[in-house]
Order: sequence, then structure tokens, then C-alpha cells
Amino acid sequence: MDKKIELAVRRRADGICEYCRFPEVHSELRFVIDHIVARQHGGATTLANLALACGFCNRHKGPNVAGVDPSDGSLARLFHPRTDDWRMHFQWDGAEIVGQTAIARATVRTLALNDPMQIDARRAIILCGRTLY
Ligand SMILES: [Zn+2]
Repeated sequence: MDKKIELAVRRRADGICEYCRFPEVHSELRFVIDHIVARQHGGATTLANLALACGFCNRHKGPNVAGVDPSDGSLARLFHPRTDDWRMHFQWDGAEIVGQTAIARATVRTLALNDPMQIDARRAIILCGRTLY
């Protein structure tokens, strides 16, 4: 990937995973550049289709562009960091991410955003005084 594009994505995200909002500074692993619409589906390597993602979110998202809303079993597209506002779709309940829309609930499920290990990691940084946003 072009270094200029990668740097622009990293600067824009300000060190925060654009899916789970985890800060890279508290991660042992460097965050990756995610194709929001995977190359497998024709997604371009452009700023409009790239997001900064932690390894956990990136691994669970894979090439998925949709998931199942567990509240009713319907199919919903995944959260799109470039076109969707995180706060319009998700809320915090302590260290847990609560989906407010079908898109958010499908994303929480598909990306396993509330995996117990992820919640523990968020609790640890909250205890250190960091605010999740
Ligand atoms: Zn993440």
C-alpha cells in the first residue's frame, strides 16, 4: 500500500480503531489499514474505503460487508467508518459496546466487539483513567 495513503489513514483515525474505538497506544500490536469494502468485493485502496482497525476487529471482519442483527435475525450491512457516525450507531455501557441500530448490532456480532477479552482490555484502560469515546 502507498505509504502516503497509509499515513493519511493513520492521521485521520488519530490512533483509534474505527470499529471498536480502542486506542492503539494501549495495544501491543500495531493497528492495520482495513479495506472497508474488501478488495475481494472490488473495494478500492482509496481514502474513502480505508479505515484504521485493531488486529482483533480486522481479523473478525475479514472480507465481510454484512452480518446478522441478533435482535431479529435480519441481514444488515456492517458499520462503514467513512459514511456512518459511530455515535449514531453505538453507545458505551461501561466497557461494553451497545448497538443502537441494525447496522451496529450486526457489526458488534460479526466483529465480536464484546468478546470478553476485548471488554477486559477496555476495562483495564478505563481503570487507568482513559475515557472511551
Ligand atoms: Zn477494533
